This record gives sequence, C-alpha cells and structure tokens, in this order.
Amino acid sequence: MTDHGSVEHESPDLVGLLTGELPRDQTLAAARHLEGCAKCAHELADIVVAHAALRSSSRVSGLLEEDEEDVETAANTTATG
Ligand SMILES: [Zn+2]
Repeated sequence: MTDHGSVEHESPDLVGLLTGELPRDQTLAAARHLEGCAKCAHELADIVVAHAALRSSSRVSGLLEEDEEDVETAANTTATG
C-alpha cells in the first residue's frame, strides 16, 4: 500500500519542547513545524493544559514548603536583628 498523497509527518517532541529539555536546534525545528502543522499545534495545546494542571496541583505543596522556610528565616532575622 502506497500513500503518495500524505506528506511524511515527523512529530516533534512536544513534551520535551514544553519542559525545555529539547536541544536548541530541535526546539527551533519544532517551532517551525508547529507554525505549519495545525495537528501538532493542537496536540501541544492539549499537553500545555495537562501540564499546567499538574503544575498547579503540585504547586500547592511546594508553596507550603516554601512558606515554612520563609517563616524560619524571618524568625531568625527577627531574633538576631
Ligand atoms: Zn505535525
């Protein structure tokens, strides 16, 4: 079965692109690909939404830990200052 009508499609590493783990040349290639490929652009949008949901849920515990450290630092500063 030959498929002459379809252009060879090589999906860029969208997750790597999002997390910034992609090498610079691949990031640029992926960006160029997304400009002309609505399918991958749509897929990237889905991944961004999923990634944002994950980040917002983990951010809550991260903030709590940061707050604890801040309180400790503030207490030390107050004690010495
Ligand atoms: Zn594509």
